[in-house]
Amino acid sequence: VKNTSTFKSEHEYFHVNAIDIERYNYIKHSLSRAISNNELYIELQPQYDATKNVISSEVLLRWKHPHMGTVSPSEFIPIAEENDFIAELGLWVCNEACGLLSECQSNKINTKLSVNISAKHLARADFVSKFVAIVNKWRVSHKNLTLELTEGALIRGVSVIQRRVRELAEQGFSLSIDDFGLGDSNLNYLQDLPITELKVDRVFVEAMEGSQQKTLLVTSICNMAKALHINTVAEGIETTGQLDQAKACGCGAFQGYYLDKPMSVGDWKSKISEKQYKEGI
Ligand code: C2E
Ligand code: MG
Ligand code: MG
Ligand code: MG
Repeated sequence: VKNTSTFKSEHEYFHVNAIDIERYNYIKHSLSRAISNNELYIELQPQYDATKNVISSEVLLRWKHPHMGTVSPSEFIPIAEENDFIAELGLWVCNEACGLLSECQSNKINTKLSVNISAKHLARADFVSKFVAIVNKWRVSHKNLTLELTEGALIRGVSVIQRRVRELAEQGFSLSIDDFGLGDSNLNYLQDLPITELKVDRVFVEAMEGSQQKTLLVTSICNMAKALHINTVAEGIETTGQLDQAKACGCGAFQGYYLDKPMSVGDWKSKISEKQYKEGI
């Protein structure tokens, strides 16, 4: 039976048929046990400056279900957000990230990590206290953590999010706007909020090839960011051409498959201990 209906959720989980609803419910059900079943793990993807120093690494959540196999975070994060698991997942990731940073600190390796934070999680009244409790439990220096937030969250602008951003900045954390350029343009918040980084979305990086207009756009974004003392990261760099172009546009940092694919914790530790590593920016 093709029982078609539409989820009117914030993330618009697609126009779905019965099979998709079944998968949605299966994921929802399985996700509630993913932590206790040890099905979650993280991967890391380094971000480089223009001289190929690692300046930070993005922590990416992974889920390997015993029957479905690897499920993409693009699929399960929205489901977690809609079903109130997102805080639990977010804090789990934070704990993994801080454990890793703590290990690096013990080994005298000075490095930074960036974690993705869902707006739904950030909006919760207990976000800052719980997040900081984990960071402090591991004795991780706040300046070594960047929180990546999507632009939409800030624009939809609810004042609670803006308040959280200020609280976190006061605590010494860095704040990054992920997927920059995808949302509705409202640049006010860039000036008003203590944002330290913009991540220029992959669609712009891709579109720059063969489009002088898009190249101009990215150059303007980088110039504007510079004027506001905000760093820029070009995400989704897949070719040497894209890297060169992003550099020419004035982007300060680069992340993407061409530089490194997201890697296991083990591979990341080997990479980060290599002597070539220096602290950038
Ligand atoms: P994002 O934060 O924008 O992360 C970047 C995504 O682009 C990652 O996908 C990464 O694997 C992918 N990527 C990196 N370089 C390239 C490239 O050169 N080409 C292409 N095509 N893709 C590249 P991933 O890991 O599937 O994550 C997707 C999204 O899921 C993330 O987008 C983020 O929004 C969300 N996510 C991942 N982990 C977490 C988490 O721990 N918490 C929250 N709230 N969201 C997360
Ligand atoms: Mg991100
Ligand atoms: Mg992104
Ligand atoms: Mg993205």
